[in-house]
Amino acid sequence: MIKDRFSSNLEKILSDDKWVILQDEYNPEENLNYESLFCLTNGYIGTRGSYEEGTSKSIPCTYINGVFDKSETFMRELANLPNWLGLKMYVEKELIGIENCEILEFQRALDMKRACLVKRFLLRDKKGRETLVEGIRFVSRAHVHRMAVKLYVTPINYSGIIEVENIIDGSVINFCDAPRFKVKHTYLTANEKLGHKGAYIEVATRDDHLHVGVGSYLEATRDGENVIKTTDFHAFGEQAVEFNDFDAAQGETIEITKYVSIYTERDVIREEIQGSIKKEMEAFAKYGFESELREHFAVYEKLWEEADIQIEGDFDLDRAVRFNIFHLMSTGNESDDRVNIGAKLLHGEEYGGHAFWDTELFMLPFFAYIFPKTAKNLESYRYRMLEAARENAKKNGYLGAQYPWESADDGTEQCPDWTIEPDGTCYRCYVAVYEHHVTAAVAYGIYNYVKITKDMDFLLNKGAEILIETARFWVSRCQYVEEKDRYEIHQVTGPDEWHEPVDNNVYTNYLARWNLRYVLSLVEILKKEHIGEYKTLVEKIGLTEEEILNWGIVQDKIYLPRKEGTQLLEQFEGYFDLEEVIIEQYDENDWPIKPEILEHMARHQTQIIKQADVVMLLHLMGQEFDEETIKLNYSYYEKRTLHGSSLSPSIYSIMGLKVGDDSKAYRYLRRAAFIDLVNLQKNTREGIHAANAGGVWQVVVFGFAGVSIDEEGILCIHPNMPKEWEGLKFRLHYLNSWLEISISPHNEVDIKVLEGEGLDMKVNGKQMRV
Ligand code: BGC
Repeated sequence: MIKDRFSSNLEKILSDDKWVILQDEYNPEENLNYESLFCLTNGYIGTRGSYEEGTSKSIPCTYINGVFDKSETFMRELANLPNWLGLKMYVEKELIGIENCEILEFQRALDMKRACLVKRFLLRDKKGRETLVEGIRFVSRAHVHRMAVKLYVTPINYSGIIEVENIIDGSVINFCDAPRFKVKHTYLTANEKLGHKGAYIEVATRDDHLHVGVGSYLEATRDGENVIKTTDFHAFGEQAVEFNDFDAAQGETIEITKYVSIYTERDVIREEIQGSIKKEMEAFAKYGFESELREHFAVYEKLWEEADIQIEGDFDLDRAVRFNIFHLMSTGNESDDRVNIGAKLLHGEEYGGHAFWDTELFMLPFFAYIFPKTAKNLESYRYRMLEAARENAKKNGYLGAQYPWESADDGTEQCPDWTIEPDGTCYRCYVAVYEHHVTAAVAYGIYNYVKITKDMDFLLNKGAEILIETARFWVSRCQYVEEKDRYEIHQVTGPDEWHEPVDNNVYTNYLARWNLRYVLSLVEILKKEHIGEYKTLVEKIGLTEEEILNWGIVQDKIYLPRKEGTQLLEQFEGYFDLEEVIIEQYDENDWPIKPEILEHMARHQTQIIKQADVVMLLHLMGQEFDEETIKLNYSYYEKRTLHGSSLSPSIYSIMGLKVGDDSKAYRYLRRAAFIDLVNLQKNTREGIHAANAGGVWQVVVFGFAGVSIDEEGILCIHPNMPKEWEGLKFRLHYLNSWLEISISPHNEVDIKVLEGEGLDMKVNGKQMRV
């Protein structure tokens, strides 16, 4: 175990294993995965878990949410910003680094409780000198512009001069290990000393010339006394290097502290970036590493008080669930409504930091119940992007607002038209052209956010406008087929992207109908109860009574395909005519094995699907279907879903419970919870699966704990504990109450009101006041 190096200096760091993800072996092949698993973010900035000294295999990335750039690539993606981690130590020119030395002892650990990365290496260099290097890194959530690394360096069997390079590296690029995709998104605008001490780099994004500054300086002390003999600043091209040296004595520990601060032109005006950093650094150093760390810990203590889920009796699952919550919660930003949450959080390069339907349908419920302020920001972001969504609809020949499949900072479509596979094959990517259900997801997100938080102000002043514009979109997207006297949606892709495009994807058609129906009922309420706001809105967007009438007609006649004479929904028209292929085998991780036939036959010719599609519909619109229909469809599509997307297992888990297939539901939860920890999708190196993280939370809270809100707005709890669990505890906000819910293995529920008022609830079907 990592020694209690830190207990003498700070509070005990590694107290409880259920909070710790431990890496106890160095294998360069695993570096990229660990960079994602050990990424630290405070919602403002995210930095992957690369090593300070650098390694052969590494994709070191620092992103600031909202700093996007396109340059020569396909789309605006989060620009990789200067790597602030660099810290290289040398003894007689030998790097004391993980890849240059023999590793005698190795441990790195993510401490989720306190959101820091700790390490302990005992290294022997080529001359036999042994050095113990222990360290701790964090990006402060108490002051989001501050980040730091502290190393405790102890020469074990020698004394000598240690030289240290404190590096800020502005030469980083995106996709550095993929020759075809490599792109540099920034150019250098300053590389200089920061005041009398320290290093400063300023870069600007190439398209928008948005400036980002990074400043850093180093302290080295023994027993609290400075030991640095010389400090020099060097500008090496795009690298700023602060050189320091000191004498190190055998057995004596030197503490090296690297203070860092980052500001962008999104935070202050360009001319004030460097000044702000200087001020921040001075305040940070004066306050001290330990004080800042303690404050950061205290913030996390509060966050966990809200968000932690405790599962008794199922240790590794309990920790895996916590791991998903940790990364999702850390990436949420409660103070900036200009940013959303990318499909890989701030943890990796895939999808360029873009927001998808993943936000509304997978992540939002977690934030709405746990961190409503962050949820509001996510919703407000969509309002900010409404104008762009209107433009998008117009460009594509539709009315109202069409939200882009992938959204960055300006709300325009960011899904690339072309994709290049690693082997060099290019293919036209049609996702943005056909996958339109994201627009319904945005509408559903508003409905759900308001249902959970009762934020009428948002609904009246922002949400209603989005909802009406999305309804307009759907009406223009539907086409009337005279001979069948119905409305259809042609050339569309549902959640299952392996069949594109199709006609009448039942998921999309249902959600379009839902969007229209919901807006119709909302308009009625607005007319009755909020006539002032309604009139303003009507005037603003030119809403007419004819339009509203037309919504009624269209929604009534939207075609919803199903097998004739049965309750079996047809994923899209013609699906049942495809080659019938069933999944029969599962691997050691309980993941479905691709059926043989797919070696010879294209996926789209078969009934094999990528992810929950009809089953996603059952999950969202459960109230529209009876038990038999849900069962029939679940069991039909479950056998045909290969879970090629991480958005699938959590939904199958929740629905598995609904249909009484408890053991399958439990297995699906495990698959979802371990997706990144065990790298089940083989792409953890690209970042953490954000939607899945939200899905894991939903499985536990909506699935096994059975939390829901009924039609009268009453919070209901109807648990269905798996036999593996000895207890479940979590907290959430509803109306004006903050609740702690504990569930026994036999589904007895105990509810405490931690703050706020008592509440009428339905527990295991019985109405009660808590
Ligand atoms: C899935 C989409 C998802 C996207 C981003 C794709 O593989 O099919 O449903 O939105 O990944 O997570």
